[in-house]
Parts: sequence; C-alpha cells; structure tokens
Amino acid sequence: MAKKRLVLTFPPEVVERPVVAMMVKEYDVITNILRAEIHEGEIGRMLVELEGDAKRIREGVKHLKDLGVQVEDAITDIERTEELCIDCGACTAVCLTKALKVGAPDWELQLDKDRCILCGLCVDACPLQLITVKF
Ligand code: SF4
Ligand code: SF4
Repeated sequence: MAKKRLVLTFPPEVVERPVVAMMVKEYDVITNILRAEIHEGEIGRMLVELEGDAKRIREGVKHLKDLGVQVEDAITDIERTEELCIDCGACTAVCLTKALKVGAPDWELQLDKDRCILCGLCVDACPLQLITVKF
C-alpha cells in the first residue's frame, strides 16, 4: 500500500466533475479530502491523501492530469517570519482559501492554519521572502 498527499487544482470546467468518486471506483484508490476550497464555476483547490496500490495511484493521477486537473506534491507545513512582516497583504492575494488575511482591527497579517491547504502559492508572493515551506 502506498500513500501520497497531493494538492489538486481544478479549472472551472472540471470543478464539478466527481473526480474523487472516479479515483475510488476506477482505480480503487482511497481518497481522503483533507481540506478543500471549491466553488461552482471557479478554480477549486483540494488537499487530498491517496492510499492504494502505487501503480494504480500513478494511473489515477495521470487520468486527473488528462482531465485538466493540476497535480502537485503537497508540502507538510508553511512557516513565516512574523517579526519582519510589513503586513503588505501581497500573500493574501494568492491565498484562495483565505487562510492568510489582513484586516481590522489591527491590519496585521493573520494565518489560519486550519484553512491552509498547503499549496505553497504564498511563498513566491512575499516580496521579502518571509514564507517558507516544509516537505
Ligand atoms: S499555503 Fe499559503 S496560499 Fe496556500 S492555502 Fe496556505 S496560506 Fe494560503
Ligand atoms: S507578503 Fe510577506 S511581508 Fe507582505 S504580508 Fe505577506 S508575509 Fe508579510
């Protein structure tokens, strides 16, 4: 049995397809959705853990890519250097799950790890390179 954690990004034309059911039915791969942010007609992102035969996982992932789903290895955590942050909000613009927010009352950057799907998009968005990932 193999296990793999992946971040799946669904373009709007695929966002309503039952890809998780497909992985289970067609590839016999157990698919646990750990976190998801999906809205009808918009780009959706999902952190999943796949469990099954390694070859079947590879085949299932290839099928997802053929459907237009972007597939990336998930990171395990993100870290930020809070004391150097200037609260510019650049990282919040790329965070689809709103795990990163700058707002009232103090207008300081807040990171809600429960909402974070560990996609790593915020890393490149920070002009001061204050966000790093752990694999
Ligand atoms: S990794 Fe960064 S951009 Fe992705 S969900 Fe977490 S906080 Fe948001
Ligand atoms: S982009 Fe960097 S400096 Fe700006 S709010 Fe985010 S972590 Fe802070």
